[in-house]
Amino acid sequence: MPTRRFAILTCMDARLDPTRLLGVPKGSAHVLRNAGGRVTDEMLQALLLSHQVLGTREWFLIQHTDCGVHLPDADLAATLSNKVPVITALMPASFPALTAAVASDLARICQHPQLPAEIHVFGYVYDVRHNQLLEVQLPREE
Ligand SMILES: [Zn+2]
Repeated sequence: MPTRRFAILTCMDARLDPTRLLGVPKGSAHVLRNAGGRVTDEMLQALLLSHQVLGTREWFLIQHTDCGVHLPDADLAATLSNKVPVITALMPASFPALTAAVASDLARICQHPQLPAEIHVFGYVYDVRHNQLLEVQLPREE
């Protein structure tokens, strides 16, 4: 069992050490990784499993600048993602687009019909160059 009851979803980029980023010891969190740290159906199932079976209560989503799997702009990513599903894993390159990707993925988690009420979800952009974690808020309800 992860001792801090954390689950972290982040990019598979080898430069990222997610437990160190959050300042928690190894073994204190589940770490789920894919290209970009994007929220997919599969990752949502893994997060729910992490809660149901191993009791995680706080979920951290961390995407980052200078990601190796980026596309030059968000519009192109959106266009391609309609045609090639795997492209949804690719990251936008600009900082505002990256922040928007985290916000949109946070919303996807929070809108999941099976999301347990006791789960707290946090989203971050990790700025690789400045070694900083920047929190991203959930988009406001319309
Ligand atoms: Zn990456």
